Amino acid sequence: MALTAEDDRRTGETVELLQTMIRNRCVNDGRPESGEEVRNADALTAYLEEGTALDFATYDPLPGRRSIVSRLEGTDPDAPTVCLMGHTDVVPVEESGWSRDPFGGELVDGEVWGRGAIDMLNLTSSMAVAFKHLSQRADRGERLRGTLVYFGVADEEAGGTYGADYVTAEHWDDVACDYVLTESGGIRTETPSGPKLVIMAAEKGIGWRTLKVRGTPAHGSMPFGSDNAVVKAAEVVRRLSAHRPRADINDYWSHYVRSMSLPAEQEQALLHPDTIYDAFAAFPRETAKMCHAMTHMTISPNVVHGGQKTNTIPDLVEINVDVRTLPGQTEDDVQRELREALGELADEVEMDLEPSNRRATESARDNPMWDALVDLAGAAHPDTEVLPFMIVGGTDAAFFREKGVPAYGAGLFSARSPWEAFADRFHGNDERLDVDSLGLTTRYWIDLADRLLG
Ligand SMILES: [Zn+2]
Repeated sequence: MALTAEDDRRTGETVELLQTMIRNRCVNDGRPESGEEVRNADALTAYLEEGTALDFATYDPLPGRRSIVSRLEGTDPDAPTVCLMGHTDVVPVEESGWSRDPFGGELVDGEVWGRGAIDMLNLTSSMAVAFKHLSQRADRGERLRGTLVYFGVADEEAGGTYGADYVTAEHWDDVACDYVLTESGGIRTETPSGPKLVIMAAEKGIGWRTLKVRGTPAHGSMPFGSDNAVVKAAEVVRRLSAHRPRADINDYWSHYVRSMSLPAEQEQALLHPDTIYDAFAAFPRETAKMCHAMTHMTISPNVVHGGQKTNTIPDLVEINVDVRTLPGQTEDDVQRELREALGELADEVEMDLEPSNRRATESARDNPMWDALVDLAGAAHPDTEVLPFMIVGGTDAAFFREKGVPAYGAGLFSARSPWEAFADRFHGNDERLDVDSLGLTTRYWIDLADRLLG
């Protein structure tokens, strides 16, 4: 895929829009009043409406938490509809860890720096530039048969309550579509068996719990024989962290392992639930933790609150546990796993489910969109094998998959920003992305629209 002068001009627009969105500092720290995505929503609207006839719907479930939708109607009502969905919020930064201003949006040595440069204002801005281009092309008489929807959405980083969850629940007709494209695929990695590029077709579910461990209050000066909630909670935490749920050798994992051309014995070990644990434990930690998360329900006790006073034996400790499930696993499976982990202590622990929990989701790959995603990524990186992959975190794709709409995490990164850089900078320090990746990705959305909707 050779980029033309016209592509270069559009890449320049993506760079500028990305810089603007980084500088708008829409930091979502989880509080309903944070984010203030209205700044990025308005910047996107201003960019998209200049020189086009586009209309916008806006959604403000809370003041400042604005999302926008714009539709480019096709000529054929029977042709498919594709939604480009990009979130407009970013996660907080630890300023001291950065070598440049995280909200400066500086362009240095061919890279745009700042929070959101890879998650995912790069995609949100490139989607807007592609959408505008196709809208202007339609105004000149070259309309697509199918319909393209642009969805600039708030609050992804805190689970989508004031963004994708709200819009898909309350205004489904505005975003209804046949396919959704969103973060975070299209990233290359070099492996001993050649370069690979992953496109996301699934993501794990969220099964968060608050565990309540109770004791009997008493004076701290006489602890002998006491029923101390902190002591009991310590054992609960220990058992949770020691527990090993059985491995699930899913489709994404076996694709990945088989693509690696490993020695037969090692490949076998990684593909069997009885041997996989020891097989990946030998990998470097960064690799091993991804292998583990790809193949296991994970259980991580991450917050503990309890006790009142140094001289009082505590009667209550609350433990927040981050549980992530694989495709096919249910809340019942989580409950069974936790009870197994806790053993006889399980009866003494109350387990409250978080209301925002959701199952793992995955999208079929036997459709024209998947073929186009793979073909066009392969055309950009001809030497590279494209693999379906599963995100071990959560994204807004889940809201669409739950409604039966295939959703994929895509994009097209250059060799200058490989998987290792992506993983390091994702929610990390010195987040930045090279301009070539922005150019490739902008062109990718246009080519995908032409393939699916043309
Ligand atoms: Zn993201």
